[in-house]
Amino acid sequence: MKELQLRAYAKINLGLDVIRRLENGYHEVKMIMQTVGIYDELTFERIPSGIVLTTNHGELPLDENNLIYKAVRLMQENYGVTEGVKVHLQKNIPVAAGMAGGSTDAAVTLKAMNALFDLQASEEDLRRLGVKIGADVPYCIMGGTALAEGIGEKLTALPKAPDCYLLVAKPDINVSTKYVYEHLDAKEGYDHPDIDGMVEAIKAGSLKGITDRLGNVLENVTIEAHPIIATIKERMLALGADNSLMSGSGPTVFGIFTDKDKAEKAYGQIKEEQLAGQVFLTQFV
Ligand code: ATP
Repeated sequence: MKELQLRAYAKINLGLDVIRRLENGYHEVKMIMQTVGIYDELTFERIPSGIVLTTNHGELPLDENNLIYKAVRLMQENYGVTEGVKVHLQKNIPVAAGMAGGSTDAAVTLKAMNALFDLQASEEDLRRLGVKIGADVPYCIMGGTALAEGIGEKLTALPKAPDCYLLVAKPDINVSTKYVYEHLDAKEGYDHPDIDGMVEAIKAGSLKGITDRLGNVLENVTIEAHPIIATIKERMLALGADNSLMSGSGPTVFGIFTDKDKAEKAYGQIKEEQLAGQVFLTQFV
């Protein structure tokens, strides 16, 4: 195969709990991951040697700091690939947003290298390599609805979550994941989401069981630093969302709607009020 075009889908967290800080600085987490219909488009082309990366996005690194670059290099090294690859990234997923934008690009790149060079790696092989790039990469390889434990790499696939409309809003602020986790370590006495209950709700196909249990402990830090997140959540609820939550370490907020009309009106309203620079109306994938 000479060329390949693939989509890299974003995720949201329907639930995110932090169990404890590990000695290596990572955190043990318990998360419900869900793929959503917002995606980057990546084009891969075999070239005689090297890694050439281009993108429509003005601020992303194009060197070894890009997770796509890391994924290509990892596959080259592990499978003895001497040829190179040219990658173009059409970035549509909000950056540094809590939607695993970089991790999903890396996941698709591992799959693309596997296909382009016919390396015969299993999904399990790719997941094992992927975790070296980032804790969310194994999930991004798998996709769908899943429970993620450990540092995020211990995955249990769950049945597809019930259909609904999803309003996603990324305010124009930058949140550092490192800052959020560090400040959470200093906090005590906050509520923990009912992740086990949500797993049961997903297995039972109950959207209400899911929306009743939306929860993310990282809100305790990020909302304190950026109250706009609470404002967007409140607006989504006032506009008819069943419930609303921040995804990952933020600042992206999503609202779950059962009613399509309300979701469409809320989409227009949030855009008009300019509470967020990037707004999407989408669904689970
Ligand atoms: P997560 O949900 O895993 O915390 P995120 O949405 O918060 O991810 P990303 O969009 O993955 O964050 O990117 C965070 C930083 O990583 C960016 O500021 C960027 O400099 C760097 N980065 C490296 N490669 C990529 C990539 N392919 N796409 C986006 N960001 C990348």
